[in-house]
Amino acid sequence: MDTIELVKQRAELLWLNDEKKNISKTEKQELGAEETADAAERLKRFAPVISYYFPETQKNGGIIESPLTEIPKLKDRLNEKYTADIKGRLFIKEDSNLQVAGSVKARGGIYEVLKHTEDLAIENGILQSTSDDYLKLTTSEARKYFGSCKIQVGSTGNLGMSIGIMSAALGYEAIIHMSADAKEWKKTLLRSKGAKVVEYNGDYGEAVKKGRALSAADSTSYFVDDENSKDLFLGYAVAGERLQIQLKEAGITVDDEHPLFVYIPCGVGGAPGGITFGLRQIFGDNVHCFFVEPTEAPCMLLGLATGKENRISVQDVGLSGKTHADGLACGSPSGLSCRMMRPHLSGIFTITDKWLYEYLRDLYESEGIFIEPSSCAAIRGVTAIGKGKYIGNIVNAEKMPNATHIIWATGGSFVPKEMREEFLKLKI
Ligand SMILES: *Cc1c(COP(=O)(O)O)cnc(C)c1O
Repeated sequence: MDTIELVKQRAELLWLNDEKKNISKTEKQELGAEETADAAERLKRFAPVISYYFPETQKNGGIIESPLTEIPKLKDRLNEKYTADIKGRLFIKEDSNLQVAGSVKARGGIYEVLKHTEDLAIENGILQSTSDDYLKLTTSEARKYFGSCKIQVGSTGNLGMSIGIMSAALGYEAIIHMSADAKEWKKTLLRSKGAKVVEYNGDYGEAVKKGRALSAADSTSYFVDDENSKDLFLGYAVAGERLQIQLKEAGITVDDEHPLFVYIPCGVGGAPGGITFGLRQIFGDNVHCFFVEPTEAPCMLLGLATGKENRISVQDVGLSGKTHADGLACGSPSGLSCRMMRPHLSGIFTITDKWLYEYLRDLYESEGIFIEPSSCAAIRGVTAIGKGKYIGNIVNAEKMPNATHIIWATGGSFVPKEMREEFLKLKI
């Protein structure tokens, strides 16, 4: 049966991207290594500012980064419980613990606010150049100026938290347009940080559309466009060089004989796309990146498999777009991410919601690590990779005992205690 037919039937599947190219054969794209390096440099320039507003980042010099942790007990549990037959070592990249925003959005979202701030500050003489003292951005004159500017975004929750928290800290008026999927506690937290939250009855697409229109009509306002933003994408891409350092520190080799497998939950595609792009620039053909999407909202899969990119939605094929994975509840994918991923992405898994809670318990009970339901989608990748056609056809099975697998945990540390307890018990 063809892929789209299976998607319509809400089947759990692994779609392989037959347009993926060897890195040496990848044509020049709209973003490249130079832009990623520029983003990494910008984050370094802002480190004193981040350190100043968020003291929890001081121990890492104002650089927001998450741990890479080996999780052998989860590996054993997945092998026993699901006969997953995982070979090699299993790690979790804990973006669930990223400071400031508690999710992967601390990469792209915060980067974009900083980029915009730098542009404004240089335009208005608050900074003379990019080699000026960035702590000038924290003076009361600078804050007064930022207070006359708005930053707006449409979000299912976590992007809003990263943009809202960072914008409010710098002094901006932050306006977050939240879809119906957004959790109440995220709205409450944002309001407590000084952001304005506007609620919509419709889905994420509607919140984005309204936010975009309101921002466009206001000359003091800047809109963070999750579906098209190159800056968001580049903020995520910096994860590549950060992970390279962590793998080296852990003594992990990635080469032709030691493949690296990475599994990332996917919503609109920006976060997993940026991370994949960053990793491919560094590890080339030795890294194999997979996205995981809910069976009710596999928008990247549809965009790539049909070639329609952002011109298709999950509703077009009769799916609801509704899922417990609130961070992944997106109807149409990012066109930018579709274009960028065509030569780089290995494939996409889909998963039904009930497994999110099973995996949430598996991880918590075996390793004591809590991540949010959306994040748990990543665990499907490592559980099912051995059962698909990728091993054998694309990567020689004999290399698998030397493999490193990384589950990319995209959110969790900000989830309130009552919600954690509810998730840990939930069966659907
Ligand atoms: C946003 C988000 C993702 C996916 O990022 P996209 O850019 O929407 O693809 C995954 N997990 C969590 C928890 C998120 O908040």
